[in-house]
Amino acid sequence: MTTATPEFALLPQLQCETDTGIATIPLSEEVAFGSWQKTIPDAYWALGADELTARIRAARVTLGSRVVILGHHYQREDIIAFADERGDSFALAKYAAERPESEYIVFCGVHFMAEAADILAAPHQKVILPNMEAGCSMADMASDPDVRAAWRELGEHFGGTEDIIPVTYMNSAASLKAFCGENGGVVCTSSNAEKVLEWAFERGKRVFFFPDQHLGRNTGHAMGIPIEEMALWNWRGPSGRLGGLTPEALDRSRVILWQGHCSVHQRFSLTQIEAARERFPCVKIVVHPECRYDVVQAADANGSTAFIAKYVAEAPAGSVIGIGTEINLVSRLAKENPDKTVFCLDPVVCPCSTMYRVHPAYLAWVMESLVAGEVVNRIEVPAETKQHAKVALERMLALK
Ligand code: SF4
Repeated sequence: MTTATPEFALLPQLQCETDTGIATIPLSEEVAFGSWQKTIPDAYWALGADELTARIRAARVTLGSRVVILGHHYQREDIIAFADERGDSFALAKYAAERPESEYIVFCGVHFMAEAADILAAPHQKVILPNMEAGCSMADMASDPDVRAAWRELGEHFGGTEDIIPVTYMNSAASLKAFCGENGGVVCTSSNAEKVLEWAFERGKRVFFFPDQHLGRNTGHAMGIPIEEMALWNWRGPSGRLGGLTPEALDRSRVILWQGHCSVHQRFSLTQIEAARERFPCVKIVVHPECRYDVVQAADANGSTAFIAKYVAEAPAGSVIGIGTEINLVSRLAKENPDKTVFCLDPVVCPCSTMYRVHPAYLAWVMESLVAGEVVNRIEVPAETKQHAKVALERMLALK
């Protein structure tokens, strides 16, 4: 990790284990390869970083503007190096949709992001996810049947759902975006969650927010909603039990939070912030709103990945900044801001394990397949789902 002075380089907080773990090794040597997409041809399994880079570059040149490669902030450097654009999921989907000359959109990110790109893409554009096993553990915590079952229970409890506005975070399956579109709801991102909730409260008494409890709670708190008016719906329990809530807790609630979380952001703790402040009294702490409530409260600032990148870029030279988000982005910000000391709050934070599944071998495979005239790993959202999901996304877009 890049540091402003040699003194900092000796401190344990800055010795992130993942700094040495992110370098590309052949697919066959990856410990987790067994749970990744195995249909990638054997010929790619043993290729090293240099050969993969050369082959992706050659395919890129051959395909030219027919392909656009998108790289989420949490992708490793060997992928970001090929990205025409890097950013968060929504910004990337919009970027691709604004480039109709590109017939192929190769989305280096996770499944829900490729789905969102397909929803927003022009009909002739084909979206490709390099590794079909690159999902999102948070998105997986809210399944379509579980959310619909909870909605039915809420309807039974309140005598209807007219006063409840469903809001889904961008990090959710296309079917849930469609659910929101069908039921007067909307999509939000970590950049606009407050504005979206304001929109929702103009239309209903309550918000049903999924899948990330932390973004929902942090946003509700920022809007002045007391914590006791935000109920937590436990989807893991048996159905018919009001998500483990008492009828009184539900009646009191203004926000009903789905009990989902991001396994990466939930690792950040108050103890880490206290340790950082003890070591660097001048430190500024900035975290993502997918972090726990107490972590966000103890930070100096919180916001989306774009916010965090801007916060670091605009900090004066010599600043010391502790960050609570995924390590690939933190490491990149540290490298891009050598006049500042930028470090990850969690000394042993792991990269997002599903983002990490987009190994360069998969990118080489999908790109060389396109050169050969074959589309592999296409993500196609069914037409009806796409139509309803687009309604929820467009409601969000109209809020600007
Ligand atoms: S960082 Fe968290 S929310 Fe983002 S893709 Fe990974 S698991 Fe999902």
